[in-house]
Amino acid sequence: MSEHEHRGEVTIVGAGLGGALMALYLARRGYTVRMFEKRADMRKETISAGRSINLALANRGLAALAGVGLEQQARALLTTMRGRMVHDLDGNTNLQPYGQRDWEVVYSVSRGGLNALLMDEAEAAGVQIQFEAPCTEVDLDGRLLRFHDQVANVQIEAPMTPAIGGDGAGSIMRQALLERPGYSCTVDMLDHDYKELNIPADAGGGFRMEPHALHIWPRGGYMLIALPNLDASFTVTLFLPKIGQPGAEAGDQPGFDQLEDPRDARAFFDTVFPDASALIPNLERDWLHNPTGELGTVRCQPWHLDDRLALLGDAAHAVVPFHGQGMNCAFEDCLEMDRCLDATGGDWTKTFALYNERRKANADAIADMALENYIEMRASVADPGFLLRKQLAFELERRYPDRFVPRYAMVMFRDDIGYAEAQRRGRIQTEIITRATEGREDLYGMDYGAIGAEIEAKLSALTG
Ligand SMILES: Cc1cc2nc3c(=O)[nH]c(=O)nc-3n(C[C@H](O)[C@H](O)[C@H](O)COP(=O)(O)OP(=O)(O)OC[C@H]3O[C@@H](n4cnc5c(N)ncnc54)[C@H](O)[C@@H]3O)c2cc1C
Repeated sequence: MSEHEHRGEVTIVGAGLGGALMALYLARRGYTVRMFEKRADMRKETISAGRSINLALANRGLAALAGVGLEQQARALLTTMRGRMVHDLDGNTNLQPYGQRDWEVVYSVSRGGLNALLMDEAEAAGVQIQFEAPCTEVDLDGRLLRFHDQVANVQIEAPMTPAIGGDGAGSIMRQALLERPGYSCTVDMLDHDYKELNIPADAGGGFRMEPHALHIWPRGGYMLIALPNLDASFTVTLFLPKIGQPGAEAGDQPGFDQLEDPRDARAFFDTVFPDASALIPNLERDWLHNPTGELGTVRCQPWHLDDRLALLGDAAHAVVPFHGQGMNCAFEDCLEMDRCLDATGGDWTKTFALYNERRKANADAIADMALENYIEMRASVADPGFLLRKQLAFELERRYPDRFVPRYAMVMFRDDIGYAEAQRRGRIQTEIITRATEGREDLYGMDYGAIGAEIEAKLSALTG
């Protein structure tokens, strides 16, 4: 279509990661896009600590960025992480590579930096973004959205021709859908919260730990993680139960409720994460000032209403962050919406229905896998049985690369395999590996003939 031909108007609520990328996809297709964001323009303010300063970006997210030609620009914002650097209580470290090939890596990216890039590009493509304008009312019957322009202190309206809800886990757009018959939703809050802290660069401006890794301090019932930033600092996140075990000493089965005083938090870190504690000079200050965040899983259905409205990203399917896939999944939603527009010739009712059909099972699958991955990160990575199973998985991948791909690799590196398919194949693979490693301490004498026959019978060849 010509540059001057307009296909119609789309209103997007929320200029977060998903909303901004969706706006860009639609603007590139010729739609006139207006986006409303409740917060101030983050490009003009310093982003406040607390809501994941940095994030893990994987192949799926990169593929969706490549769909609007942004892969190279995004790469300038990334730090490569080749595996998990596991820290034990004595400060010993052990790098567990994510994959077996050079390109099997995950990236750390600044939320603010990536969101700013997406907003810059969206504006350059003609998207109009109105900040400090929360959506206050979703009038489905009148096909109208109402916003409070907090700067001018006036109410504004925008049409649902259609509207897309990229307004995050607490979505007002989702709430409006739920008032209609046939719509349902569950929100499962985790009984663990999180707190963000910081390891600054050293005096020479260098990293204080290995930069090309995601650092984990697994402690069974809880964990600390750290992801590198471009300025040589690390953003550190503690995941811990809200409530500690009654009667237990802090440092044993602790909870946030026992660590209200920052001095108790420092003592806890000195006991259970001593090497990390030594690198966090402002722990007490940040403990007090940074909010304690909650985590949860949103599962709702359907995600759309005829040609009026569809949800994407956390608004449709917030997941816990332990697979590092929430943003990746939101980006994949945008790519899929774009494909559905191709498939339906731009008919919004058909596009939204097809998008919902293609994404729902995948979103459910990543929600489950993200919950499972918390156990893997906080406990299994330190377990010899887990390491043996991982060793066998890598060996089977070497022997049957077109059939056996470890589940972690399918989720993180293979954007050609949907989350639901990764989950399905993963279950079969887990059965095979669990049986094969039962009662063993090493892979010596493994019956690869029998395992190979089972793989051939149960796992179809992957294309791509
Ligand atoms: C601690 C933590 C760590 C994470 N780590 C990772 C990771 O490593 N990798 C990964 O892929 N994902 C990660 N995630 C998940 C990721 O942050 C989300 O999945 C992602 O931000 C979803 O993008 P979104 O655009 O759907 O929602 P959001 O990023 O939440 O954006 C929603 C936007 O809508 C705006 N908004 C809300 N209500 C209104 C309203 N009424 N009117 C107008 N605007 C509104 C908000 O201000 C916001 O800008 C993590 C999440 C957390 C909490």
